[in-house]
Amino acid sequence: MKVQVDERGYYGNFGGAYIPEMLYPNVEELRENYEQIVGAAEFQEQFDGLLKDFVGRPTPLYAAERLSEQYGANIFLKREDLCHTGAHKVNNTIGQILLAQRLGKQKLIAETGAGQHGVATATVCALMGVECIVYMGEIDMARQRPNVERMRILGAEVRAAKSGSRTLKDATNEAMRHWINNPTDTHYIIGSVVGPHPYPEMVARFQSVISAEIKTQLNEKLGRTNPDYVIACVGGGSNAAGAFYHYYDEADVKLIAVEAAGKGNETGESAATTVLGKPGVLHGSKTLLMQTEDGQVVEPYSISAGLDYPGIGPVHAHLHETGRAKFYSVTDDEAMKAGVQLSRLEGIIPAIETSHALAALNQMKFNTDDVVVLNLSGRGDKDLETYIKWGKY
Ligand SMILES: *Cc1c(COP(=O)(O)O)cnc(C)c1O
Repeated sequence: MKVQVDERGYYGNFGGAYIPEMLYPNVEELRENYEQIVGAAEFQEQFDGLLKDFVGRPTPLYAAERLSEQYGANIFLKREDLCHTGAHKVNNTIGQILLAQRLGKQKLIAETGAGQHGVATATVCALMGVECIVYMGEIDMARQRPNVERMRILGAEVRAAKSGSRTLKDATNEAMRHWINNPTDTHYIIGSVVGPHPYPEMVARFQSVISAEIKTQLNEKLGRTNPDYVIACVGGGSNAAGAFYHYYDEADVKLIAVEAAGKGNETGESAATTVLGKPGVLHGSKTLLMQTEDGQVVEPYSISAGLDYPGIGPVHAHLHETGRAKFYSVTDDEAMKAGVQLSRLEGIIPAIETSHALAALNQMKFNTDDVVVLNLSGRGDKDLETYIKWGKY
């Protein structure tokens, strides 16, 4: 099955660009130019160079022996937790700042929920000496104080979104408004495979370095490029899209996406979009989203700030609808336990987002010769407070 975006920006029934007319010129400029810019050898050279020397790529593909023993399979961890700034997000912000420079944009804006994408954006803006404004919900700013200060140390301005629920969705609205008002000198860096076309495909391409490296590294280790399974957690879906990208059309590779079930999918406190969502339009694209009968977006819940999103990227809605990827959902408690388990078995404290992918191993059945690649999207330093509050270790 082909999983390719068409020229209108659709993956099957999902995607497109549902934007206010005022935003049309900005998005159109991006759509017209990005493929040519990103496709140029000179761009690719600078992108690869920064990924190597600034981010620290290639990240290792690590054979996790004690974890493998636990689950009766050959499990490899793709170590995105070892990227500079502690997660995969910087792969995308590097790509987008290089693109912004070639579009002649001197200023960058971003939205952030937990602050991880904001930090990754502030980091590349400092690297390039570019002005950076990050919109963040007022509530999130209070909850994620260390990341707010990180962004400020890096020289970014953090602007509080004070409307609505004062969280990610309101920060996104304010960033959009800013972009509409400053179309000529500003580029908007979206942090996941969401938003209007061409963002989802553009972000997926920047993250596709993950699966490109997996192919090479697996071939070096085992003499085969394809594992039996690729597993990743899904918030908006960028680390999963990156880990799946070069395997979409390889039918022998099973793609496993893991969502956050919060306190349980029947409790009203969940973020498992493929279980609870219906088709609708969110942040500029048609996708699955959690909504009320009359189409109001439902506030999602997860212990993990990075998975606490009411939708998923359109490519994942398509992977779900066609059955190309299998979706699991994992509760807060299951994820926390899996995070502690990995810490004890392998000496790696994972991000709580990533712990959801790890917990899905408990729901799966493997043959002893199965090769499983799990994308370790980030490290747990940022989540120490949450581990401490949970306390069961
Ligand atoms: C932000 C984040 C995620 C979720 O975002 P995706 O776009 O779904 O990848 C997952 N893991 C970590 C460590 C994150 O920081």
